[in-house]
Amino acid sequence: MQFRNFKMIGYVVYGRGSFNQLSEILLPHRQKNCPMVFLVDHFFEGKPFASRIPLSGNDKLIFADVSTEPKTSYVDKLAQELKDEFGSISGIVGIGGGSAMDLAKAVALMMNNPGSSADYQGWDLVKNPGVYKVGIPTLSGTGAEVSRTTVLTGPTKKLGMNSDFTPFDQIVLDPELIADAPVNQRFYTGMDCYIHCIESLEGTYLNEFSKSYGDKALQLCREVFLQQEEWNEISDEKLMMASYAGGMSIAYSQVGVAHAVSYGLSYLLGTRHGIGNCIVMNHLEEFYPEGVREFKQMVDKNKVDIPGGICSGLKEEDFEKMMDVSLGMKPLWENALGKDWEKIMTRKKLRALYERL
Ligand code: NAD
Ligand code: ZN
Repeated sequence: MQFRNFKMIGYVVYGRGSFNQLSEILLPHRQKNCPMVFLVDHFFEGKPFASRIPLSGNDKLIFADVSTEPKTSYVDKLAQELKDEFGSISGIVGIGGGSAMDLAKAVALMMNNPGSSADYQGWDLVKNPGVYKVGIPTLSGTGAEVSRTTVLTGPTKKLGMNSDFTPFDQIVLDPELIADAPVNQRFYTGMDCYIHCIESLEGTYLNEFSKSYGDKALQLCREVFLQQEEWNEISDEKLMMASYAGGMSIAYSQVGVAHAVSYGLSYLLGTRHGIGNCIVMNHLEEFYPEGVREFKQMVDKNKVDIPGGICSGLKEEDFEKMMDVSLGMKPLWENALGKDWEKIMTRKKLRALYERL
């Protein structure tokens, strides 16, 4: 038995207002004449928060276009522009949801690796450490702040750059920054965490390490999405820790059916990660009966709409492509259904599931 020896993030600061320490945190990592690059979710362009970013010297502020989830072409473009403008940089600070954080991780890696980020989509393909990188979430749920991957859509696949060089050197978890997220977006991204917990806790890869974090994250999700009367500051604090713990849980296990199926949707239709997982989870009673029942309670309690009928009108070749992408996620299926998963999740069965979405 070979146990995973996984690389964790370097430093964590947690607390309401901890963003104010960013300037001090960055100081020892600033190299002479090399700027710190702030890659910030475009949602914050023109918002008061943007003026709190601690720019100094020749630092560069880039508002990241996250109107679609990160693509390898965009990562390559950002890295090339930074190389052309500065040669080398002190580091990258990614501020935003999972998309902006993943972009920051990927661009940091591409500053020190040749070729295209598409060459490194897979496991342990990245050759050199990237530049110093910091992640600061403004939405909670994906666990991208703790994970060893950065999920990218490339010319032939949607797959992360999974490597020991991928985790952030530093994360800043400030619950104040997620306070203004719109209810629907907060729910979809929060459900990503809930679904990580269900898939991890119901999976065959489960061990006590994953279970400990998964149980805690699940409890926090229940508190904020089911048990409280109304959303408040404590809810933001809990959800931020749920995301962290959920990410830690899947670090030593794996996600499952909802993610495997939603990857197909997102590859073909561009469906965003959080909402895509919700669309799929809504139809997974067969695999996660308890989890789906509770998920539906959360949907009702939070008065959120989960779209349906998104696969109606798709062509034969569209279904085939989605199934290829989904069934390619072998570890996810194996975690969910065991070693004989291919006998259980046949193409016919998966096709019927996609048709129901
Ligand atoms: P997101 O980052 O895609 O952002 C969704 C929308 O919310 C965007 O329009 C963004 O501008 C906006 N937004 C961000 N912060 C906001 C705020 N505070 N207030 C209002 N709007 C805000 O959403 P997400 O669900 O956080 O992340 C999904 C992404 O994360 C996908 O690209 C997915 O592939 C990735 N992901 C990565 C991992 C990983 O381990 N690396 C895990 C899960 C998901
Ligand atoms: Zn997820």
